[in-house]
Amino acid sequence: MKKILSLILVVMMLATAVCFVGCGKKNDNTLTVYTEAGFAPYEFIYNNEIVGVDIAIMKAVAEELGKELVVTDVAFDTICTSVQNGKADVGAAGITIRPDRAEQVDFSIPYSSTEQYVIVPVADETIKTLDDLKDKKIGIQNGTTSDMLIADLIADGTLGAAEIIPYTSPAVAAASMNKQTAVVTDKLTAQLIVANDSSLKAFPLVKADGTPAAEVEEYGICVQKGNTELLEAINKVLGDLMASGTIDQWVEEYSAKAKEVGA
Ligand code: GLN
Repeated sequence: MKKILSLILVVMMLATAVCFVGCGKKNDNTLTVYTEAGFAPYEFIYNNEIVGVDIAIMKAVAEELGKELVVTDVAFDTICTSVQNGKADVGAAGITIRPDRAEQVDFSIPYSSTEQYVIVPVADETIKTLDDLKDKKIGIQNGTTSDMLIADLIADGTLGAAEIIPYTSPAVAAASMNKQTAVVTDKLTAQLIVANDSSLKAFPLVKADGTPAAEVEEYGICVQKGNTELLEAINKVLGDLMASGTIDQWVEEYSAKAKEVGA
C-alpha cells in the first residue's frame, strides 16, 4: 500500500514537472505576431484588417503549428525588442536582416530582397542622387534601415546639415511631403506609395556615380533567441512558399490590394 501511495505521488510530481516544462510561458494556443501595418504590400490595412505578404506567411505558419494567429500593429522600432523580451512570439514586418538585429533576435531564412528608394514630388528636378540630399530635410520611418543609413551619412558628414524628419510609417511620411524634400524607404513600399499618389515619383537611391547608395537588403522573420522550434517551423513554411512561387504571387496580389485601397 505504501508503495502504491508513493508511486502515485511520483506520478503526480512528474505530471506537475511536465506541466512546468511544457505548459510554461505562453502556454496558450496562440501565435502572437508584431508588425507595423503601414508597409504595403507586406502589411497594411484592408477592410479594417491587417493583411499583406508577411501576414499571409504567418497565417501559413500558424496553420502548420495548429495555433491561432494574433497580429498586433505596433511601432516598427519596438518590434525586435518585444520579440527579444518574449512580449511577442514573432516579428514580421519586412524586417531587414542585420548583424546588430541578429544580436537581439534570431532570423529566419531570407524571403524577399529590397533596396533603398527615394520619393520626391513629381515636379522636382533637383534630387537625382544621394549628393542632392545634402543639407535637406529627409522624411524617414523610425528605426528602419533607411533611418540608420541616412543617420550614418549625416554623422560622417556626407549629407552636411541634412536633417531626419521622423515618422511612424513611410506612407505617413510621404503624405507630409511639404515638411521635407524627400522620403527614403524600401523599394516596393516606395513604388506603391507613388502608384497611389500621382503627385509623387520614386527611384533608386544612388550615389553620384550611379551605384546604389546601400547594399541590397533581405527580409527575415524574427523570433526570440533560441526558439529553434518556432524558427524551424517558419523556415519550413518559407522554404515551401518560395519553392512554389507563392511569395511572388502574394507580392503581386497584395500590391494590387494595396493599390485598390490606396495603402
Ligand atoms: N526593411 C526596413 C527595415 O528593416 C524597413 C521595414 C519597415 O519599415 N517595415 O528597417
